[in-house]
Amino acid sequence: MSRILIIGAGGVGNVVAKKCAMHSELFTDIWIASRTLAKCDVIKKEVKELCGVDLTTARVDADNVPELVDLIQKCQPKLVINVALPYQDLTIMDACLECGVHYLDTANYEPEDTAHFEYSWQWAYQEKFREKGLMALLGCGFDPGVTNIFCAYAQKHLFDAIETIDILDCNAGDHGHPFATNFNPEINIREVTQVVRHYKDGEWVETPPILEDDCVHFSFDYPVAGPRESYLLYHEEMESLAKHIKGLKRIRFWMTFGQPYLTHLKVLENVGMTRIDEVDFEGNKIVPIRFLKALLPDPGSLGSNYTGKTVIGCVIRGDKDNKPQSKYIYNICDHTEAFGEVQSQAVSYTTGVPAMIGAMMMVTGTWSGAGVFNVEQLDPDPFMEQLNKNGLPWQITDFTGQLPE
Ligand code: NDP
Repeated sequence: MSRILIIGAGGVGNVVAKKCAMHSELFTDIWIASRTLAKCDVIKKEVKELCGVDLTTARVDADNVPELVDLIQKCQPKLVINVALPYQDLTIMDACLECGVHYLDTANYEPEDTAHFEYSWQWAYQEKFREKGLMALLGCGFDPGVTNIFCAYAQKHLFDAIETIDILDCNAGDHGHPFATNFNPEINIREVTQVVRHYKDGEWVETPPILEDDCVHFSFDYPVAGPRESYLLYHEEMESLAKHIKGLKRIRFWMTFGQPYLTHLKVLENVGMTRIDEVDFEGNKIVPIRFLKALLPDPGSLGSNYTGKTVIGCVIRGDKDNKPQSKYIYNICDHTEAFGEVQSQAVSYTTGVPAMIGAMMMVTGTWSGAGVFNVEQLDPDPFMEQLNKNGLPWQITDFTGQLPE
């Protein structure tokens, strides 16, 4: 019997709550808390209709450690699943430490005033979690998350040595809006407008942001989705994989973007709407990107008209039995099917399902340990098995296509 506390009631929180409720034999008592109680109550109602399970809801400001501690002490969960925003990672980790509770998230900590992505802040909690005998599992969504697990699986079963990894993230879906983001607009736009980095021979190589004319892109032929323009982007899982995949020489991350998305984003950037600093507006201080978020469609609401698929996976090259080999491990997820199952589009679905599986690994003791872990440090096999059982089946093929050198 395990009680869990989910923090965050957005697109991803909705999926985590419903997928956990579908495993009520493991998650026997589910709490969901967020800044806006009404959003938790909507999820509670839908979970009851879908699975017949009663959730407990609560309001919490996850920027406030004493409030979090009060809630965690009241709930007494085995594990906190953090699917609020990356800004809250450290406060939630602090509260978990104070209350002696395990921790899981899907995105690395970001300070609100700088769009900077690195694990250093959370890796610094290693000793604190270790001393208390607690486990903090970082980045257990799809990317980061499943992509890391695919690499760990390849390292364990498919290769003697891995030389290069290319993570390829394609959303070939259509939500019918001229411009919308698939997860929190503020977090998404901060991520895609930054300078691009990839890892090569022990160094981080910088290239122009995706909105610049000289950014790096190429057309990749995705299964089912076909050829799509894919842009080199910095993504946080590269940092932990560069550390944990033995002998890795290069890792890159590519994401597809349609021209209308890029054009809208370029205009918004040019007029200052993606700024993350405060500006004066009629005597008030506003942060333009937050104002923009208020105007854009809520990512959680996109699902009802979303068609098409996501195709996310890793092309991994290296040696096996002294012969070079290339493998492609990927998942295909359908927006319409995800909506039919849990009233969510596929981007929230592909994030929420792995978070539930990570929680399953932790509450059953299949994954255990004291300290801070990235998912590739744990045994990929039981997680891969659960992906197949819980809506995210994967495939492995020999890769015979071309990648830029
Ligand atoms: P949403 O914006 O839809 O939801 C975020 C939720 O967190 C909202 O319910 C929001 O409340 C709540 N929240 C924000 N600030 C606070 C606070 N101070 N206290 C309490 N609750 C708060 O985001 P998503 O569901 O799309 O994304 C959730 C997380 O998942 C993000 O960290 C995102 O980066 C990550 N993610 C990871 C992916 C992966 O593959 N690894 C892919 C996609 C997302 P309110 O409604 O009141 O604002």
